[in-house]
Amino acid sequence: MAEEEEGEAGGHHVLLLPGPMQGNVNSMMKLAPSSSASLPHHLSHHRFHPPPPPPFRRHPLSFTNLPQPRDQDHLRCLPDDHPRSDRNALADLYSSMNSHAKPLIRDIILSQTAAKPKITCLIGDGFFGGLTADVADEVGIPVIHFRAISASCFWALFCAPNLFESNELPIRGEEDMDRIIATLPGMENILRCRDLPGFFRGTETNLVDPLKSTVFDCHQTLRARGVILNTFEDLDGPLLTQMRLKFLRVFAVGSLHAHLNYRRVSDAKTTPSTSSFWEEDRSCLTWLDSQPLKSVLYVSFGSITTVTRERLMEFWYGLVNSKKRFLWVIRPDMVAGADNDERVAAELEEGTKERGFIVGWAPQEEVLAHKAIGGFLTHSGWNSTLESLVAGVPMICWPCFADQQINSRFVSEVWKLGLDMKDLCDRDVVEKMVNDLMVHRREEFLKSAQAMATLADKSVSPGGSSYSSLHDLVEFIKSASRKIN
Ligand code: UDP
Repeated sequence: MAEEEEGEAGGHHVLLLPGPMQGNVNSMMKLAPSSSASLPHHLSHHRFHPPPPPPFRRHPLSFTNLPQPRDQDHLRCLPDDHPRSDRNALADLYSSMNSHAKPLIRDIILSQTAAKPKITCLIGDGFFGGLTADVADEVGIPVIHFRAISASCFWALFCAPNLFESNELPIRGEEDMDRIIATLPGMENILRCRDLPGFFRGTETNLVDPLKSTVFDCHQTLRARGVILNTFEDLDGPLLTQMRLKFLRVFAVGSLHAHLNYRRVSDAKTTPSTSSFWEEDRSCLTWLDSQPLKSVLYVSFGSITTVTRERLMEFWYGLVNSKKRFLWVIRPDMVAGADNDERVAAELEEGTKERGFIVGWAPQEEVLAHKAIGGFLTHSGWNSTLESLVAGVPMICWPCFADQQINSRFVSEVWKLGLDMKDLCDRDVVEKMVNDLMVHRREEFLKSAQAMATLADKSVSPGGSSYSSLHDLVEFIKSASRKIN
């Protein structure tokens, strides 16, 4: 937003309701045109390290936890010690929010104090699309849905009923996972069965009824006044064109963190924001300072993905055997299973001491922007993908679930920004792909990654598509709010 527009935005108060997952919170927290925010009750303040500062000097965000539910709802809420950051917990989060949160959100919207003026617009995470559309209808304010997943995944999920109709879905037991999906509008003949969002592979059936496309409430976004996507025209143009045939308004405002960086450079008084659930170990930046230019592979599987100890070892051997330098995030809760065997082979210890650095949680955006980073081995979460792309860092993708399978296909086949390791991972594959990315095909990938980073940067600069789309979003919020005032 330009300065004068920021001044005009006063009087319009937007309630942001992010899904309580790290990636969703990260991206929604960076959405600028907001003057009030609420975090779902599931996401309590103590999960931030340190408490989040306002991302913009002129646009203070205030934070409210959803209040504790009333007695009769309490039993349906998640207990405090529920492992919310776990892929298997998504269904619990979804049903808990849907069963108890409606009156709580309604109360926040309707309560008005001197410190919290009337809410005039709701930007709700599309993950709870039906819930936020219902509340907005009841209280008579406009709702805009925010999609934290990739545009390609959102669109594939939205189109799922058509794929069932044309017999391209479901994926049947033993069939060839390389079968091409021909009829997805905007991405015809790009995806194979194995690239479809994880929900269609039968591994996440607890979340969905794909046939009815209830996955992440996709069709509920038809009830919203618009949809906000963390992408940009040069990245997802053909998909956005298709979406505009369906939805009232499509605001492609991404990459949101690039907007923030852009403003941080032009406004020195703007405080960097963080919304981490874990404490960042900044010692890795000091370690990176002493590494040669573009020599280090950054390895992180995001905030939710877990691996077995066996899989961890395959990665570890692959990394050490590649003989490349690496910085690896191993979250305290990342290794699944009750196996307490923490012994590590001497050759791994040795190789890691020589060329590696391991932390529990990293300041990822800063890491990716560091001059020593030459590649990213990622689980292909959408935030991680965008952060890598904006920093011009090529990727090796090891997708696990949700939108990650489709994101990795786009990274490798559509945008040509790296390699896709899906369904293939063992120590030899890891070693080979690390060397392909960091040595054999290094120039090719660096060139395309840097070209994409330039487009990403252009999109958030004045006159760029995301810059304009963010402006349009602010104007839309103002005009829609004015009508209800
Ligand atoms: N992240 C971080 N430090 C880490 C690992 C991840 O700050 O050590 C951040 C990362 O920058 C991204 C988010 O966590 O913004 C992960 O979101 P993503 O959509 O990539 O994956 P998810 O966690 O939802 O699977």
